Amino acid sequence: MENRRILTTGLREEDRELEPKLRPATLESYIGQESVKENMRVFIQAAKQRKEALDHVLLYGPPGLGKTTLSNIIANEMDVNIKTTSGPAIERPGDMAAVLNSLNEGDILFIDEIHRLNRMIEEILYPAMEDFVIDIMIGKGPGARSVRLDLPRFTLIGATTRIGLLTAPLRDRFGVVRLEPYSVENLKIILKRSAAVLQVEMEEGGAEEIARRSRGTPRLANRMLKRVRDFAQVRYDGVITEEVARFALDLLDIDKVG
Ligand code: ADP
Repeated sequence: MENRRILTTGLREEDRELEPKLRPATLESYIGQESVKENMRVFIQAAKQRKEALDHVLLYGPPGLGKTTLSNIIANEMDVNIKTTSGPAIERPGDMAAVLNSLNEGDILFIDEIHRLNRMIEEILYPAMEDFVIDIMIGKGPGARSVRLDLPRFTLIGATTRIGLLTAPLRDRFGVVRLEPYSVENLKIILKRSAAVLQVEMEEGGAEEIARRSRGTPRLANRMLKRVRDFAQVRYDGVITEEVARFALDLLDIDKVG
């Protein structure tokens, strides 16, 4: 039970408190994903020079790889506001219209799990993304008419773990960016930074041991770090050594992978 819970890569209650503290805020401090970062740097600089909103971006990859983090970094680097919502949260066309209507010039709209938007709502997004307009129905029955409203120029960032579930017309309106699992080396860098934020001492071997068992996923690495920290605190004078990491993770029955 316990190991299965710790190994889910989706966001869990225990991550909610920690993640905001551990989330890097700049491209510089976002570890790994080198080609993604290089491309984003160019896009961001070009958009800023032209004083335009960034083109719409679709981020895809397994949970816990840094899609939400990267979206917030893009907003930060562009120096614009970000509004966050998710596919399941937008149930009716009116919800989508209200969200779009609340945006200001240059804002980023982040839609997590965008593959879960229903078709009717997707259809509102097409003209919004392409021409920055929405069509709203006013009235009911035979007297109903459609009114076109202008929207500010905004950037839509969609995130998905299941790109295959996105309809082609929606996918085609984005520049698509794929996030890759992290190397053990990069996970170690992330773990060291997190250990510093948590003010816990960690030896090289400890970082290596946790990184190897993190399945290429920063969220998992940070979650394991927290568990190992508890063991270190109670039994090993607070220092995360290779031994304590192995002991704690063996006890939680987490396999070494990679
Ligand atoms: P996703 O949205 O893909 O599920 P998140 O962006 O929520 O993933 O990332 C989960 C956690 O992993 C973040 O809170 C952050 O602490 C950490 N993380 C993700 N990517 C990176 C990275 N490139 N560098 C450092 N930490 C990262």
